[in-house]
Amino acid sequence: MDTVRQGLRAGDIEKDTYERLICTHCDENLATKDSEDGVGKVRSCPDCGRQYKQIG
Ligand SMILES: [Zn+2]
Repeated sequence: MDTVRQGLRAGDIEKDTYERLICTHCDENLATKDSEDGVGKVRSCPDCGRQYKQIG
């Protein structure tokens, strides 16, 4: 799984004017959930299902 940082760099996600993460493929706000390993969070697009790990 890519990290949020990698997704931003690749252009798969970007921040809107309110600093929220959005999927550039679907123009959807990314949902947030706890990661399975308990470290950080997982941000996922509700439309295409792409997931990005958010650390810290
Ligand atoms: Zn998407």
